[in-house]
Amino acid sequence: MKRTLTLLLSFFLLNCAPAAPCTPVTLGTEPPAYFVILDYGHGGRDCGAIGVDTGVRESELTLLIGERVARALEDRGCFVLRTRTGPDALADTKRDDMARRGAILCSEGADCTVSIHMNKFADRRVKGPMCYYQAGADSGKALAQCVMDALTAALGRDARLANPGNNYVTRIPSVPSVLVECGFLSNPEDERSLQEPAYQQRLADAIADGVLAYLTGGK
Ligand SMILES: [Zn+2]
Repeated sequence: MKRTLTLLLSFFLLNCAPAAPCTPVTLGTEPPAYFVILDYGHGGRDCGAIGVDTGVRESELTLLIGERVARALEDRGCFVLRTRTGPDALADTKRDDMARRGAILCSEGADCTVSIHMNKFADRRVKGPMCYYQAGADSGKALAQCVMDALTAALGRDARLANPGNNYVTRIPSVPSVLVECGFLSNPEDERSLQEPAYQQRLADAIADGVLAYLTGGK
């Protein structure tokens, strides 16, 4: 019960703009197994990377794939708090947007955080998902490797190590955090696949499976 109240308080305090009415959350009779915070990268005027061949915006794909991840986690019994639920940014300026994301990502009681992004690189041959954790964070490293392993298994790709990094969205004290780069918008195959609903769902299920593998200690 205490956990349920904490989740509700976190949602009301950190996911609602002061001027906006809060949306009631129904958690059901059973408390959720885990509390996961999902961050969909970019939004609003910050569209992130642009697909080289199709012009698709990273911010559109983070929302589409992120929502699939959210539903996959909810189907697996998790309570999911999203940093955004639509195409808009969280604030008018990048600085304020990131500050609000940071506040949500630090919500009390979270078991882990997952940020969804798309990659881009000068060498157009580079493809596939990558996972980043905050350098020096052992729990983040374990989470990132669980997600990486689930992704490579689901997509039939060669095993790939999670990468250490230093990103704002993984720099969260005491909460395991991973930044998932779902694929490269500079690679023709990835750019095409990332826009296909079936591929988005495979990514989402794999990310959810990887998160659960970490949280349940299955690895
Ligand atoms: Zn990004």
